Amino acid sequence: MREKIVGGLLTPKDETGDCFKFSNALAAKAAALGVRFNYGSIIRGLDVEGGRVHGVVTAHGTIGADAVVVALGSFSPLLVRPHGIRLPVYPVKGYSLTIPITDASRAPESTVMDETYKIAITRLGDRIRVGGMAEISGYTNDLGEPRRLTLQHSVTDLFPGGDVSKASFWSGLRPMTPDGTPVIGPTKIAGLYLNTGHGTLGWTMSSGSARLVADLVSGKKPEIDATDLAVARYA
Ligand SMILES: Cc1cc2nc3c(=O)[nH]c(=O)nc-3n(C[C@H](O)[C@H](O)[C@H](O)COP(=O)(O)OP(=O)(O)OC[C@H]3O[C@@H](n4cnc5c(N)ncnc54)[C@H](O)[C@@H]3O)c2cc1C
Repeated sequence: MREKIVGGLLTPKDETGDCFKFSNALAAKAAALGVRFNYGSIIRGLDVEGGRVHGVVTAHGTIGADAVVVALGSFSPLLVRPHGIRLPVYPVKGYSLTIPITDASRAPESTVMDETYKIAITRLGDRIRVGGMAEISGYTNDLGEPRRLTLQHSVTDLFPGGDVSKASFWSGLRPMTPDGTPVIGPTKIAGLYLNTGHGTLGWTMSSGSARLVADLVSGKKPEIDATDLAVARYA
C-alpha cells in the first residue's frame, strides 16, 4: 500500500496503551490501599447546605463527605446545575471498532493517525483498534451502521490483517469544553471540586489531573498553577 502514502510524521515520544487494563490495575492497587468502590451506584444529587457540600445522594442513600470531586465526564454539568454552577461541558460522541488480528504482518505495530479520515489505528495486543469521529448528538450511545462501515473501510484500507466479521463496535462520549482545556479545581461551594472536561485526551491527562485535584483537596500547593483550570474562568 506504499503508493497510497505521500508522507508521514513520526512522534517518537507518543505512547500507546490499553486503558482498560490500566484502569483495572489501578483500581486493584487503590483497593489494596483501602479505597472503597461503589460500582453500579447511581448518583442522584449533591447534599449541599449553607454553601458547603456534605455528601452525595445515591440511589442507596446519602454518603457523607468532607470533600466531593465531580468526575462524571459529560454528565458533570447535570449534577452541579441545580446548585447554580454553569459548567460548559458537552458530550461529543466518538466511535471505535476493535478487530481480532488474523495476520500480524498486515496489522499495525503501534499507533497510526490517519489525517484523511481523522482516525487513530492502534495495536492492542492481538487486536487492532480504530477510533475517531466527532458527532454532536447529545447523550446517546446509538451505534449507526454507516459509522461502522467508515471505520471498517479506513482500517482495512491500511491494515487488512484482521477479521472484521468478529469486530466489536463501541461508542463513547468525550466531555468537551469550548476552549478545549479540562475543568479542574474548586467551585463556589465549599468542599466541592470538579475534575472533568478532558475531551479527546481524558486518559492521557487522568493521572496528572488526579494529582492536581488531590493536592487541591488536601490543601497542598500543586506543582502547576491551576488557577486557570477552574470553572471560574468562564465567569
Ligand atoms: C472513540 C474515542 C477515542 C478516544 N481515544 C482516546 C485516547 O486515545 N486517549 C485519551 O487520552 N482519551 C481518549 N478518549 C477520550 C476519553 O475517553 C475521555 O476523555 C475520558 O473517558 C473522560 O474520562 P472521565 O472519567 O472524565 O469521563 P467518562 O469516561 O465519561 O466517565 C464518567 C463516568 O461517570 C459515570 N456517571 C455519569 N453520571 C453518573 C451518575 N449520575 N451516577 C453514577 N455514575 C455516573 C458514567 O457512567 C461514566 O462511567 C477517547 C474517546 C473516544 C470516544
